[in-house]
Amino acid sequence: MIYTGRFAPSPTGPLHFGSLLAAMASYLDARSQHGRWLLRIEDLDKFRERPGAADHIIHILSAYGFEWDGEIVYQTTRLPAYQAALQQLAQQQLSYPCTCTRKQLIAAVAPGPFGRLYPGYCRHNVSTPTDEQRHAIRLKVTAQDIGFTDRTQGFYRQNLAEALGDFIILRSDKVFAYQLAVVVDDEWQQISHVVRGADLLDNTPRQLYLQQVLGYRQPEYLHIPMANNAQGQKLSKQTHATALTTADALTNLCAALRFLGHATPEATAWTEPREFWDWAITQWDSAKIPRTIARPVQT
Ligand code: GLU
Ligand code: ZN
Repeated sequence: MIYTGRFAPSPTGPLHFGSLLAAMASYLDARSQHGRWLLRIEDLDKFRERPGAADHIIHILSAYGFEWDGEIVYQTTRLPAYQAALQQLAQQQLSYPCTCTRKQLIAAVAPGPFGRLYPGYCRHNVSTPTDEQRHAIRLKVTAQDIGFTDRTQGFYRQNLAEALGDFIILRSDKVFAYQLAVVVDDEWQQISHVVRGADLLDNTPRQLYLQQVLGYRQPEYLHIPMANNAQGQKLSKQTHATALTTADALTNLCAALRFLGHATPEATAWTEPREFWDWAITQWDSAKIPRTIARPVQT
């Protein structure tokens, strides 16, 4: 299987330093192994999407010298594939409709480290809700530990039944859940290596489980540390991480590579991103990435 990596941003805001890190790590890991690198826009959640964000992300990636293989895939063009996976899970009797409201669940269960554990109320419902009746679809999980060895973070495991309970694969607003869409697309695009931010480390067992029950292959995973700001908060749209601009491409690329554990010369050593990448691809060593979930950005 040829190395195939991807960067899969959600267009919920402009590209910031934290997302540049995931783009860079996935890109260098792929290119240093002569692999393919795909760009996928995860635009299923229209409530969280910001107008212009997808275009900004693509514009910055391109100005920063990233070169993706093939066409950009937008998840909104992939709905029939997610629907087919949903159907397969229903046929395997691994899913069921859930009519619980957020209010009911908040009243019934205390929040845990991964959100509220779903107590399985609807698992044994005999009547099926009608299409008009608001309901989500949940996946039945088992009480076994699901573990994997992350290339940076080491061994990680989770017991889905204890951590989360049966989780949502189709939201009650009829949006396919990220967990379902991501495994369907990683399989379809034959992704062999997933490189992304450590905020998704604890999502991975759900994805491994979905791959298992759908009969998909399992990629290798590498979760890079998240970038924290000076206040110790993760850089994200919520903490108003600043949008990257094209003006300081080389400075940001150098800062990102340093954050990922690689020494670099001053940004003035290159005149354009293409030269930076030619050099960086020869330098990339994923073993240098610090083994930590989050670290501050050095400026
Ligand atoms: N779209 C997800 C995000 O921006 C990342 C998906 C992934 O890399 O698996 O957080
Ligand atoms: Zn329910």
